[in-house]
Amino acid sequence: MSSTNRRTFIMGLVAGSGVLAAGAARAQAAVAESDPQAAALGYKTDTTKVDAKKYPKHDASQHCGNCQLYQGKPADATGPCPLFAGKVVHKEGWCSAWVKKA
Ligand code: SF4
Repeated sequence: MSSTNRRTFIMGLVAGSGVLAAGAARAQAAVAESDPQAAALGYKTDTTKVDAKKYPKHDASQHCGNCQLYQGKPADATGPCPLFAGKVVHKEGWCSAWVKKA
């Protein structure tokens, strides 16, 4: 294998692994409201469905997308949250750990 071919081959491997990594990120499961930790935090996939009696400080303007802990991109419907390792939360969701994004 010439050095040009080797470089092309390696670049192909790097590009391919990037695609795989992106695919894996997209395939991450969304947190279910029935998940024990989600239930303990009062997580809802839709902030307008939060129990107002149980969480009187909740406001419909609060959602994962404007939470300090949310790690998703603005254009994505879901994104990672460190409270739910290996899963993603809905941008329009909410849980009692919500903290206003600085
Ligand atoms: Fe959403 Fe923030 Fe709760 Fe994570 S901590 S689930 S981003 S409201």
